[in-house]
Amino acid sequence: MDIELVTIGTELLLGFTIDTNAAELARVLATVGARVVRRTTVGDDPGDIDRAMRDALTRTRFVIATGGLGPTRDDMTKKVVAAIFEAPLELDSGYLEVLRQRFAAMGRVPMPESNRSQAEIPRGATVLPNNWGTAPGLWLEGPPGVAVLLPGVPNEMRKLVEHEVVPRIREKGKGKGETVVRSLTLRTTGIGESSLAAQIGEREDRIQPATLAYLPSVNGVDLRLTVSNLPAEAADTALKRAAAELLPGLRAHYYGDDTTDLAAIVFGLLRDGGHTLAVAESCTGGMLGERITAVPGASAVFRGGVIAYANEVKVASLGVSLALINEHGAVSEPVVRAMATGVSERFGVDTSIAVTGIAGPDGGTAEKPVGTVWLAARVQDREQVMKRRFLGERDEVRARSAQAGLDLLRHMLRQ
Ligand code: ATP
Ligand code: MG
Repeated sequence: MDIELVTIGTELLLGFTIDTNAAELARVLATVGARVVRRTTVGDDPGDIDRAMRDALTRTRFVIATGGLGPTRDDMTKKVVAAIFEAPLELDSGYLEVLRQRFAAMGRVPMPESNRSQAEIPRGATVLPNNWGTAPGLWLEGPPGVAVLLPGVPNEMRKLVEHEVVPRIREKGKGKGETVVRSLTLRTTGIGESSLAAQIGEREDRIQPATLAYLPSVNGVDLRLTVSNLPAEAADTALKRAAAELLPGLRAHYYGDDTTDLAAIVFGLLRDGGHTLAVAESCTGGMLGERITAVPGASAVFRGGVIAYANEVKVASLGVSLALINEHGAVSEPVVRAMATGVSERFGVDTSIAVTGIAGPDGGTAEKPVGTVWLAARVQDREQVMKRRFLGERDEVRARSAQAGLDLLRHMLRQ
């Protein structure tokens, strides 16, 4: 089943409110086999709402709209859509009473007159009761198709979708062979989008019926496989087959599925190997420690770390020699090695990660431009160092550095 979304609200167009409703709706609808084929956003203008709804209904005949259902003047979705369905608004006395009681329960007697309009229902529409707010959802069905109107408040929208919309869509799909839209994400790090594509090569031609999307972020490139219009079991099989086809092409850059966190993978490897970990961080300023301590159970392996930002701290707290820093600079291979060794010794651990780099925007030189980062990982007496040059702004360089530090240790622990 194909569905279009129309999200309504001038605040969405101004960018003050991010359209989380559309994203959430698409994810939930996919689980019941409904595919969102187009999204439109319009402001609180009756003409714009009218055009958007008519166009979407003409194309797809099934539209879900959010926003503009409230009692205020800028809320006019219901009126406009009622006109499209040629369904006059009629006062639903039962619902009016429900509203009165709800206001009475909050000690608000009499109910504000403006809320009366919320009990006006387009003739023939199904009321989707809203126990989490005052504006009910509405389900209109007629010659133009199906229009589902939901409140804009994300929590109310979410609850109505779960309790009222999803069951009705399931019901509609019955008999037509129930299908789903499903995705599986393969997470990679330490390789760019185009290199990854080159590595995958012709494997991509052999993943049908799945489709592949490359999703780069500071944590790496996620590969999202998606299948639609298949029964659940066939969808899962198709995803598994597609993943098996791609995986050899990802090599060791692959670290997990879906929302798996690299820090959690590293934690698992450390715990299984009976290791303990400490970190020495310069440009990441604690991000490595934050990533690791965010993993439940981290205390089983993580001892602590030093944020050795100033050279004096690298010397005093990690035992890096000042002569080494003066000779090679704080962002250099000898210094990152000394940081890793120093933190291992001082914390009495057998594994460590060290990071030193130039996050920018200032501090770069021709020889060491902004984004230059040295990383080191130690496992017992083995040590590996790596120089990277990250693109992006300060925060991105820092986040990429933390991810790369974790990944360096992951590679060593896998050997
Ligand atoms: P109410 O019953 O509360 O009056 P409503 O249908 O009139 O609901 P709106 O007035 O359009 O909803 O929006 C209510 C709140 O929800 C606002 O704070 C708005 O920013 C937020 N909101 C509206 N649409 C979206 C959306 N698409 N994504 C995220 N938040 C949204
Ligand atoms: Mg609004």
